[in-house]
Amino acid sequence: SDTLPKPERTRVFTISNQKGGVGKTTTAVNLGAALARQGARVLVIDLDPQGNASTALGVEHHAETPSVYDVIINDIPLADVVQRSPEAGELYCVPATIHLAGAEIELVSLVAREQRLRRALDLHVKDMADPYDYVFIDCPPSLGLLTINAFVAAREVLIPIQCEYYALEGLSQLLKNIEMIERHLNPELAVTTILLTMYDSRTNLAQQVAEDVRQHFPDQVLETPIPRSVRVSEAPSYGQSVINYDVNSAGSLSYLEAAAEIARRGAPSTGKQ
Ligand code: ADP
Ligand code: MG
Repeated sequence: SDTLPKPERTRVFTISNQKGGVGKTTTAVNLGAALARQGARVLVIDLDPQGNASTALGVEHHAETPSVYDVIINDIPLADVVQRSPEAGELYCVPATIHLAGAEIELVSLVAREQRLRRALDLHVKDMADPYDYVFIDCPPSLGLLTINAFVAAREVLIPIQCEYYALEGLSQLLKNIEMIERHLNPELAVTTILLTMYDSRTNLAQQVAEDVRQHFPDQVLETPIPRSVRVSEAPSYGQSVINYDVNSAGSLSYLEAAAEIARRGAPSTGKQ
């Protein structure tokens, strides 16, 4: 398969949208798998207590598995909990277990409670001879301390938007929250990428929503939308990305293309635009 341009430094994305069910986890897993398939070194950090990204990447995440919980709460080095996904390419995952459900509460009383993931990730990447090209953090839908940890650890925000009624509703709140994080905790944070998910080109509604989103965010929206596809929704129940499950399916091909777009666009220039 083709090799994409490699970023100079590790690009860290948080996949965020306060709505549930818009394709955050699906996007973290499949963009990760798609970039790895095309030659990149990729880490997916599962920061959702549901552990769906861990499941889809085929890594162990039962209650005793060392996980992102141990990193954030118990200061375990990230390197000690990273697992390699059985899928093709250099694809790694930091799993989430059931313990993460309690982390929101436990974090409240810890020092540097917003910075814990960032510190762990910085230390890990600094130690690597051949660092990751991409890190994707899969967030829970709420704006709690876990999501704030993801915003502080990342440089880029990727927002998946489902092309349905009310797609833009709630987005202004998300953007306000990101601005607040930028002002107080992470001045480098920027919304660089918007991905249209579960797109059905046959409906006028989807086309209209897509047009609206492109008008609002002309520089961020990727050309390639992800179609609604049964193969995409089936893959996780086999513990696989759609790329591994059915590489030539429409969902797989569009995630491969969206991944290539992200690589070709490159990282945002340093210093705020
Ligand atoms: P979130 O992480 O934002 O809650 P998910 O990625 O879990 O959303 O997706 C919600 C549901 O939609 C899941 O059942 C998933 O399999 C399904 N889904 C996501 N993307 C697609 C798609 N392109 N085609 C069909 N089903 C999809
Ligand atoms: Mg999810």
